[in-house]
Amino acid sequence: MRGLCCLFMALLAGCALEPGATTLSDGQVDDAARPDAARPDVALDATVALDATVPRDAEPDAAPRDASQADAAPDAAAPDAATPDACPCPEDASALRCGAEAAAEAAAAGCVLPLAAEHPTDLLACRDGAWRVAEACAEGCQPGEPAACALPECACFVQVAWCGEGAAREGLSRDPPCRVPLSPAHDGDILGCRDGAWIVQRACEDGCFQAPRGTPDACNEELVATPQDPGWADCPHRGLLARGLHPEASDRLRCAGVTADRISQTIGNAAASAGYHAADGQADGLDYCAAVDLRTRDLTRAQIRALLERLASHGFAAWYREPGADGWPADEAPHIHAVFAGVRMKAQLQGQVRDFLRGLNGLASHRAYAFWSPTAASLAIVRLLFQRRYNP
Ligand SMILES: [Zn+2]
Repeated sequence: MRGLCCLFMALLAGCALEPGATTLSDGQVDDAARPDAARPDVALDATVALDATVPRDAEPDAAPRDASQADAAPDAAAPDAATPDACPCPEDASALRCGAEAAAEAAAAGCVLPLAAEHPTDLLACRDGAWRVAEACAEGCQPGEPAACALPECACFVQVAWCGEGAAREGLSRDPPCRVPLSPAHDGDILGCRDGAWIVQRACEDGCFQAPRGTPDACNEELVATPQDPGWADCPHRGLLARGLHPEASDRLRCAGVTADRISQTIGNAAASAGYHAADGQADGLDYCAAVDLRTRDLTRAQIRALLERLASHGFAAWYREPGADGWPADEAPHIHAVFAGVRMKAQLQGQVRDFLRGLNGLASHRAYAFWSPTAASLAIVRLLFQRRYNP
């Protein structure tokens, strides 16, 4: 510190440093560089270097910077050497990011992105090789893939009782779309309104049952239907339609109008099935798989949709795997993949049933399934069957 005090005192006094003293980049004066009898002729101008701690205009005696100063104090003469680089555009240049997200990524990457700090709640993207504000968000920014401007909060629209998940979907379908503030944290609970504000009316222990539109929703545990009776059509018990089926699934397939020759796989290890058709357990001493594949080549798209609905009404989560559509590879065979929701099954199949209940494709991409969607009544049957085993 002695050198620093010396520097300021020298400046206050309006005079220069001792001849030969060298100001280092951190503002200290290097005593070792003081002149001695052997170096009487070291010029003052050449030894005072500018740096961040010494305002330039406070040092009227300082000489203009030149090459000789750079030699004397290389780090001070190149003040930009330690400044981080500007953040480059990401590989996926069109990806949208919230400013706050982009700022965190910049910090982690050790680069600078001033735009992100200036617009933490706006949507940023790279366009033409440069970061830009893609959209200014009035309601803040919603991180995710892709990030998006947050929607305005919905005015509470629940009349009696609405599952959080269904209310959130309703909000998105409104014009203009809006956001239910208690979603997704309370998607499985019953929401309501009190004095115009969103409230959790009931926290559901076993999830929320979405009744057809116009009928109040209820917690699953409050439903009249028992888990053993999901309210589905009667279906007589007969012999197995095909080896590898669970007896109950076999009966339900028959009642849905499926004949043995339509079944292309029960238990099996086809490469395209990636283990989904491995055995799930035993019934009556025989291995079964909860999943079954059905041939579709002789059916029109309308007939396929009708079959999917009949399957759902008998407790199957089912998808038409159409090559090149809904996430199914273009080079794989068309078929219906159906999972009977009411029996023990491997975790992979449970994940597919959960996807089905949410309107998703049951594939790794978990995208919305566009080809068909079940009626509310059929969806309720699949949901209740699934819960009797997996959400006790
Ligand atoms: Zn399958």
